[in-house]
Amino acid sequence: MLMEAIATGGVAAAAAGAYAYAAMWPESQIFGRTVVAGQDANEFALTYDDGPNDPETGVLLELLAKHNIHATFFLIGRFARQRPDIVRAIAAGGHTVGNHTMTHPKLLFCSPRQVREEIAGCNAAIEDALGSPVRLMRCPHGMRRPDVLRTARSLGLTPVQWNVTAFDWQETTAETVFTHVERGIARNRQRGRGSNILLHDGGQAGIGQDRRASVEATRLLLERYAGSAKFVTPQEWV
Ligand SMILES: [Zn+2]
Repeated sequence: MLMEAIATGGVAAAAAGAYAYAAMWPESQIFGRTVVAGQDANEFALTYDDGPNDPETGVLLELLAKHNIHATFFLIGRFARQRPDIVRAIAAGGHTVGNHTMTHPKLLFCSPRQVREEIAGCNAAIEDALGSPVRLMRCPHGMRRPDVLRTARSLGLTPVQWNVTAFDWQETTAETVFTHVERGIARNRQRGRGSNILLHDGGQAGIGQDRRASVEATRLLLERYAGSAKFVTPQEWV
């Protein structure tokens, strides 16, 4: 009886571990196909989550324009509703705008109805600002279930994850963020993979979050790689 209980517990723990991996590991494909990166190790995608933000998004747009590099911005719908002018500035700079849900919930724990409302609401917020459809989506915290990905696709979106984590959603410095990104790029180069780099120009708590470290780390990255790497959007890896 005891052994049985231990064995059952072990299986349950293993199953829970497998579920967590499938639901939360950025590169897992178990719960459905998501775009991570291509096979060319010299291709990078700079991706920014949780905006639009002020003033960091604008500062970032100037910096990217200076280097003639295009990035991808996964926007929170309620911020897009507050600042459609920044959404338009992103698109006007030639960057790709993606869906990051309306209020940034953990979709893993939302009802199917909430999931649909979160994704559809963000699509509407961005499309009202831009007048053109959204094609890409990134799940908040990278958390998904099979039906979350299906719902995204049914709303015209390709789910995008990442394979370089900058850990810039917490208090940090530009040098630390840059070091995390450098490590991720080196690991991807060893594996012969492109780098889908996750950074943050905003924060889910509200517009006005301090993301100067992320902007400064971007400056370091561009100084290091703008001349050698090919910058793409995840759309090119679909
Ligand atoms: Zn986010």
